[in-house]
Amino acid sequence: MTLINKNRKRDLPTFANINLLGTCNANCYFCLGKDIEQELYGLDHLNDHFMKWENFITFLNFCKANNIKQLYMTGQTADGLQYKYLDELVHFLQNNLQFLVGVRTNGILALEKMEVIQSMRAEIGYSIHSLDPETNYKMMGSHIMPDWDTIIPLSGPNVRVSIVLTQYNISEFFDIVKYLSKFENVRYIQLRRISTDTRMELLKDDIIAYEEFYKEFTIAYPSDATFYLAQQHTLYGKQLNFWRTVETSINSYNYFTDGTMSDMYFIVEGYLKYRKQPGKK
Ligand code: SF4
Repeated sequence: MTLINKNRKRDLPTFANINLLGTCNANCYFCLGKDIEQELYGLDHLNDHFMKWENFITFLNFCKANNIKQLYMTGQTADGLQYKYLDELVHFLQNNLQFLVGVRTNGILALEKMEVIQSMRAEIGYSIHSLDPETNYKMMGSHIMPDWDTIIPLSGPNVRVSIVLTQYNISEFFDIVKYLSKFENVRYIQLRRISTDTRMELLKDDIIAYEEFYKEFTIAYPSDATFYLAQQHTLYGKQLNFWRTVETSINSYNYFTDGTMSDMYFIVEGYLKYRKQPGKK
């Protein structure tokens, strides 16, 4: 049985990601960076000024030329909020180059970095996988539970929450959605299925658990629309997108802070195809 079907017919890219490389303050077992752990090993740009990132300006020019307006600070081995020069970077991208910047983050540093989060003009994406410290630790390898009750209301009008649904937190699904439904600024909730190119054996039980859950869920709560091929549902007044990442049609460009530039949405494939070889322009 094929568990993951990659959709290669993608729409035109509408945004770009800046993939920060370093050592993350969490350790999610499903992290996509673990698919290429060896290739990314030792790369750390958390404290490097962005003007020193190879090909960064070339990538920004490429984005401009291709009509990309939204840039997201994210990471494959690090969290976007860990970046030392984040405020300067966001200011530079938004005020000097007129991009709209957003972030994808686990929220661990959100209160500390709230000022820069509030300055961002694109979507703020928080990953909230559990409200239970033990389950959270199983999923994220971190004992830190961000104070979402404080963080979310402070984060502006354009918040999205992603929940990676796995065998560990599926039983908590309704509780998490209900909890999030009280925040007016959470515009929608993305239910992500684990994605992997190289660790299927290890992660297949989670993928199966997601699909089994969805089968039951959709009988009780039928889909009301689609978003880039992801099924949309409504629960507790919130829009839910069941997001099988590589099976959607959304598209993006990707920059990695080691200088790798990719025109592919598929993170792992794109990185391996275009990986910046040391010393090569
Ligand atoms: S927070 Fe993101 S980058 Fe960090 S380990 Fe988890 S999935 Fe990977």
